Amino acid sequence: MNQFRFSRRPDIGDKIRVSFEFFPPKSDEMEARLWDTVTRLEPLKPKFVSVTYGAGGSTRERTARTVKRILNETALTPAAHMTCVNAARHEVDEVIQEFADMGVTRFVALRGDPAEGVGAAYRPHPDGYANGAELVGALKGVGDFDISVSAYPEKHPESPDFATDIDMLKRKVDNGATRAITQFFFDNDLYERYVERARRAGIYIPIVPGILPVHNFTQVANFSSRAGALVPAWLAERFDGLQKDPQTHALVASAVAAEQVLDLVERGVGDFHFYTMNRADLVFAICHMIGIRSHEAEAAGSAAA
Ligand code: FAD
Repeated sequence: MNQFRFSRRPDIGDKIRVSFEFFPPKSDEMEARLWDTVTRLEPLKPKFVSVTYGAGGSTRERTARTVKRILNETALTPAAHMTCVNAARHEVDEVIQEFADMGVTRFVALRGDPAEGVGAAYRPHPDGYANGAELVGALKGVGDFDISVSAYPEKHPESPDFATDIDMLKRKVDNGATRAITQFFFDNDLYERYVERARRAGIYIPIVPGILPVHNFTQVANFSSRAGALVPAWLAERFDGLQKDPQTHALVASAVAAEQVLDLVERGVGDFHFYTMNRADLVFAICHMIGIRSHEAEAAGSAAA
């Protein structure tokens, strides 16, 4: 074991920044779980926490309510996701203004998927913004926001090739995007290659890896190819036979995510975005391993020592 590896440095946590993604809850029970998660992750002092916007714009009110509650009841900085789906420009502009009036300064700007679901052909609203790049432009027209956009290390399923995909990312940057967050992926080489392609195309904003802890392998495997992320055979092998053994599944999931994140740290990655699925435990454990600690926990630890 080499104690001098970068990821084993005692000050590693000072060099890493994290952000967390939540989805707006649909029921009182889910709301309670989200707030338990927010409360547990808040002391880790993420750079921001983002709240997704449901397919077809279906969660507009719920997203706004969740963002507002984060603003009012926590010290966290929320980022509101927005999509262009099924909305005319003036409707999207209204939502932007609503968030801005609330005090939101960060957005994640997306085209979104058709209301019929991921994989169905996308048809922009006749008077709407056509894609993520146009939405970035609309946001910049309202205020000097911090705007994140999507990036796809395995290219978006609708992109015919990487050149088209990277060209779309470049358009988003030219319109004012300040950071890209990637679709989840499991092969770090693909991420590294994508970042190299983007740099060669003159894209210099941070391209932050989106990390998905595998809470449920079957669900992830079903969703992944439509989302533009492949499940490698070695990953399927690791979860093989664990569908009815949730305890071992959770242990394997945490080992898999830790392995991925620590390898990215060794490759020099300093920013991570976690798709929390509104669950804290796995993300909390991974953050702990990369030196992102709750100050309360550290104080309690040294008092006990
Ligand atoms: P864009 O980047 O606008 O387009 C995707 C691809 O389509 C482009 O790479 C390009 O190749 C092609 N394309 C689009 N328009 C054109 C054009 N005019 N000419 C040529 N090619 C074009 N979905 C939600 O519904 N809500 C969310 O909150 C949400 N959050 C997300 C967060 C992250 C970090 C990521 C990675 C994805 C998220 N998604 C969300 C999913 C996203 O909406 C889908 O992946 C959707 O299919 C594409 O949206 P986009 O903004 O990436 O699209």
